[in-house]
Amino acid sequence: MENEKIETGKINVQTENIFPIIKKFLYTDQEIFLREIVSNAVDATQKLKTLASLGKFSGELGDLSIHVSLDKKNKTITVSDRGIGMNHDEVIKYITEIAFSGAEDFVSKFKNKSQSEVNAIIGHFGLGFYSAFMVSDKVEIITKTYKLGGQTKAVHWECDGKTEYSISESDKEDRGTDVILHISKDASEYLDEYKIYSLLKKYCKFLPVPIIYGTETVTENIENEFDDKGNPKTKEVTKPRVINNTNPLWRRKPSEITDEEYIKFYHELYPSVYDDPLFYVHLSVDYPFNLTGILYFPKIKKNMEVQREKIQLYSNQVFVTDNVEGVVPEFLTLLHGVLDSPDVPLNVSRSSLQSDTNVKKISNHITKKVADKLEDLFNTNREEFEKKWDDIKLFIEWGMISEPSFLERGKKFCLLKNDKNCYFTIEEYKDKIKDIQKDKDEKLVAIYTTNADDQYSFIEPVEALGYDVLVLDEAIDGYFINTLERDNDKMTFVRVDADVPSKLINKGEEIPSKLNDDEKKTVKELFESLVDKGQYVVETENMGESDIPLIITRNEFMRRMKDMARLDSGYGAFPDSYNLKVNTNHPLIVKIAEDKEHGADLAEQLIDLAKLQQNILTGEKLSKFIKRSVEILEK
Ligand code: ADP
Repeated sequence: MENEKIETGKINVQTENIFPIIKKFLYTDQEIFLREIVSNAVDATQKLKTLASLGKFSGELGDLSIHVSLDKKNKTITVSDRGIGMNHDEVIKYITEIAFSGAEDFVSKFKNKSQSEVNAIIGHFGLGFYSAFMVSDKVEIITKTYKLGGQTKAVHWECDGKTEYSISESDKEDRGTDVILHISKDASEYLDEYKIYSLLKKYCKFLPVPIIYGTETVTENIENEFDDKGNPKTKEVTKPRVINNTNPLWRRKPSEITDEEYIKFYHELYPSVYDDPLFYVHLSVDYPFNLTGILYFPKIKKNMEVQREKIQLYSNQVFVTDNVEGVVPEFLTLLHGVLDSPDVPLNVSRSSLQSDTNVKKISNHITKKVADKLEDLFNTNREEFEKKWDDIKLFIEWGMISEPSFLERGKKFCLLKNDKNCYFTIEEYKDKIKDIQKDKDEKLVAIYTTNADDQYSFIEPVEALGYDVLVLDEAIDGYFINTLERDNDKMTFVRVDADVPSKLINKGEEIPSKLNDDEKKTVKELFESLVDKGQYVVETENMGESDIPLIITRNEFMRRMKDMARLDSGYGAFPDSYNLKVNTNHPLIVKIAEDKEHGADLAEQLIDLAKLQQNILTGEKLSKFIKRSVEILEK
């Protein structure tokens, strides 16, 4: 089908063998070649539509679908569009001069860069079309321009991966472009139907022009034909298989979309997720940057279990990545959904991404919109909000810990839950405890448990004093407490076992002691001789007679350090440290002070009981305790 008039040319580059370099350095991101070729076809189609809408193209647009086909026998992948096409001069200009200057620039910049940096700058240099050579020995373009009503001859360009190319006339009759990739031996994995299908599904799922690949068989009702039961008869029909949804939800007006459509789209994005999202935010900005998208709040699993599904980032409906690190604040990566922005410099390195002013603005905007949504839910339906709290708590707390602007917003709707399952905002809570949970320095003391069941025996006496107990039982809560304390300088948090119940809030009241200083010293020394000095600090305290005789407490500061160390290995290992508080007003302790001979046995029994209360009596010590208890009962 070729005319004899063959013209050859040389791509004007200094670097002789540019293609081997492109192949080698783009290797890990090889599969993007398909995205690049298909999105060029989409661009060419969109341009024709634009010309038509401006009255500059008056022919028939016809079917504008883009066809992708695989020919295993000839080892080719072909992408065909019916877009604007190119004439001879345009092929020379756009394919061999402009597109190549990008490639050349790229090669000159790639030197001394790491693989990941190289990957990051690919698209930045407009290597789009030439990425085809990552997988091809030879690439052909057969194209016919829309201009002059199709009177201009079609053009056939061919290049085999060296700097020479040939160009000739072709008798292609239809307007548009076919790009034919002759897949090289070492890229033969792309000669697989399913591979190409899944690449199209990954990168082209929401392109604005229909992409057709292969066929599919569907079952259809036959018109006006019914079986005995009156059900319509059906037939199997083979149809071209369309890959993409050309009008994805995020591009439509929020006011015209129903709740059901949002939920349905969520499942279209994440076919493997069973749960519906809790709620969503639709983003749509034109100025000062362009951004559309929908973010969904999933049920966030306890302990920040890695979320398998990620936010997908698109640029004009072309999938770019599902690694949005640097584009949105880290806590927002717990959300699901799509972001689409041509204004994110998608291919520059991460560090420059973080300092990019557009990215900063986008990130601030998203944070603000997410906060608006949460505040709105809180204000309009608090009951619903409380119901969802446990599922979104982690997300909100992480945001407040890590993003100062979100902390300011979050304060209005962030909730604290007590062990009676009542929810309070921070201000409401301060108000609730302000009368009785105030120490001698007028500081509010919030008391919390990290495990209401394990710490029940501490919670009970604390509540008997009229204090309220918050439940802060997730790994993140330790950090969250620090954030709250930093933000509320007149408020402090202590765990239920941080001290003796009556001293948990230091009100500066002194209880007189039943023992004199000598007796106290004797008691102290006795208990010290019975515990590991490296772990326990023994103190005598004048508590009430009704308080228990002996209690093991864990200093709030030391325990927090230990908890942090457990979460973050950077802190190094912290030993367990306990305070053994002896109630010098309890009758049993008074007895121990008076009768040293039997006192030791009694003291040992009391220590074990205190350890039991802290869930730290185990192994041989537990076994001895049980035996001793039985003996005591027998006496
Ligand atoms: P970019 O798309 O970033 O401009 P490419 O290297 O992918 O860079 O393409 C270079 C140019 O070649 C395009 O800008 C376009 O003018 C032309 N081109 C590529 N593919 C097609 C096509 N299918 N139809 C028409 N023109 C195309």
